[in-house]
Amino acid sequence: MECNERRIQALLVFTVVIVIALSTITSTAFFLPAISYSQLSTTPSSNNIANTKVVILSFDDNRKGDFTYAKPILDKYGFKATFFIICGKTTDKGAMNWQEIASMQSDGMDIESHTMTHKHLNHLSASALNFEIAGSKQCLASHGYNTTSFAYPYDEGADNVTVVNTVAKYYDLARTGSEPLMFLNCNGFKNHPQTDCKTYLPDGKLTYANRYAIRSLSFDRYEIKDLFNNASIFSDFGQILNSQSNYNKGNGIISLSGIGNNVGGAVPLITFHNVRPVNNVPYTTNVGVFAELMKYLHDNGYKVLDMANLRYDTKSNVSHIT
Ligand SMILES: [Zn+2]
Repeated sequence: MECNERRIQALLVFTVVIVIALSTITSTAFFLPAISYSQLSTTPSSNNIANTKVVILSFDDNRKGDFTYAKPILDKYGFKATFFIICGKTTDKGAMNWQEIASMQSDGMDIESHTMTHKHLNHLSASALNFEIAGSKQCLASHGYNTTSFAYPYDEGADNVTVVNTVAKYYDLARTGSEPLMFLNCNGFKNHPQTDCKTYLPDGKLTYANRYAIRSLSFDRYEIKDLFNNASIFSDFGQILNSQSNYNKGNGIISLSGIGNNVGGAVPLITFHNVRPVNNVPYTTNVGVFAELMKYLHDNGYKVLDMANLRYDTKSNVSHIT
């Protein structure tokens, strides 16, 4: 009897402790600041939607910081990304060199083309345009890289028939700006109605989104807009990444195929330029901030992909994720 009473007492004490702990957690949750490192990092992922959350990561301009600081963080989580290389600028100060690029590829990173010298493409002569677009493919091939994707410098050229026709001769896909999501069927852009991803309209004009105008976002632009304030950087990142959940419904990665859906899946393509231990530098992401952003992707069950995971189906004129 005495023994049972002790047990009941112990049970009561345990219950009271649990109730206090629960109420503390609840009230803390309500009074948390708008956003913080810890809140972002510990948000539990929901299993039923976790594997429909994806992001394609790119790094442009072969900056050394991407090798020295970003790669170890990507490696920590097993994330693979695309590195768009300016083939004529691998010996510049602060640039990733060929040895580092080779090490990127041998560790599973995707190496793609970002022109020879990073020119504005819209007003070049035919030969200069060819040098930038075909020349960079050839230049990368001479170093052992078979490239299938191209990224337009300054997000310029995807609305120019001459530029696009040249790109189309040498690459399967080309990436431009400036949208938080790429709709795999190309039919979710409110201001640019399309029914599929065909490159040309019947009148010969270019469509807004197509295989040579894969829409993406330079996240470092948000960092500038946010005046490098960590709280707003993290909240913007979470918002952009989560916006896909309105479109990617279903139980697996296969649901991201645009085929057969009214509005196919949507994928955020996020670009960084330079990751370094510096603050408040435009187009440069502080390495600590970058580490937190990648931790967020990991902790929230995002599947991180590169450009090689994005394919275009020429029969159905939509893209899909592999
Ligand atoms: Zn660039």
